[in-house]
Amino acid sequence: MEFTLIDRIRERTAQGRDDVRLGIGDDAALLAVPAGQELAVAIDTLVEGVHFPIGTAAVDIGWKSLAVNLSDLAAMGATPAWALLALTLPSADAALIDGLANGFAQLAQAYRLALVGGDTTRGAFTISVAVHGFVPPGKALRRSGAQVGDAVLVTGTLGDAAAGLQLVQKGANADARSAFLIERLNRPTPRVAAGLALREHASACIDISDGLLADLGHLCTASNVGAEIETSLLPRSSALLDLFDENVARDFALSGGDDYELCFTVPAQHVATVQADLARLGCGATKIGRIVEGGGVGVRDADGRWLEPARNGWDHFGA
Ligand code: ADP
Ligand code: MG
Repeated sequence: MEFTLIDRIRERTAQGRDDVRLGIGDDAALLAVPAGQELAVAIDTLVEGVHFPIGTAAVDIGWKSLAVNLSDLAAMGATPAWALLALTLPSADAALIDGLANGFAQLAQAYRLALVGGDTTRGAFTISVAVHGFVPPGKALRRSGAQVGDAVLVTGTLGDAAAGLQLVQKGANADARSAFLIERLNRPTPRVAAGLALREHASACIDISDGLLADLGHLCTASNVGAEIETSLLPRSSALLDLFDENVARDFALSGGDDYELCFTVPAQHVATVQADLARLGCGATKIGRIVEGGGVGVRDADGRWLEPARNGWDHFGA
């Protein structure tokens, strides 16, 4: 790829970190992991038309490509440090590259994360980001630590991004509530500070990328437990509740993707402390259920009736 295009990325993502001994420009970056820390690494790929709608602004794609990765570090309780960016583009489009780099840089600056290298190739529009973060040995949050009796909590609100996607697909007009939901789709907020705070008391953690039920299901499988959640407790934004029917809003919150909130478990005696900590950090934490023996995720409605998956959402058993 043309050197000037890589230069454009470098200019926009420069970050003075002295643990970057050699950044963009050589055959590999040279990085110094702080003594006594473990390195947490993750990678995620966004494909146009699959992970973001065609027509999404470049600046939003750049932001989201880093946000989804920071969300993985958040779920591990790791402090972000470095990233690699692999771009596949149909053409050497300077405006597209500038937009991607600017969106990426907005989020990177907030965490003092340095872009230390990458790759640029021609092909169908795809953006891959790999992130590296630090965590004290043995302190990382895992999916596997949930215990029977623990409370299940989530940060923020659920279902906004799925609602935003539907609004984009319908070509919804830009009133403030629609704009909020579309922003939640295009510019997810990685819960990095919450993840760090959770290292103290959470027994297990996962970030919600594929929908609450799917991801809580992964946590339960890894922990060899089950979970019961109450739909009446699911935190939902007023924009979601204003613009969508209750059943649709509920199904978005249960199964919609792209929320990038954290779902985690906490021993009962620490729930209030954790909620106070995360309230101070701005995202809050809502208790939505508890860990039980067995496997899988059970869902109860406001009347205490169990729901089961239906073709287009969630239904009452036998209804
Ligand atoms: P090589 O052929 O040795 O892999 P490249 O020409 O692909 O080197 O890249 C030159 C330098 O630019 C390398 O340091 C690489 O990490 C960096 N780079 C290439 N593409 C990107 C990108 N999209 N974002 C950040 N750095 C990049
Ligand atoms: Mg080389």
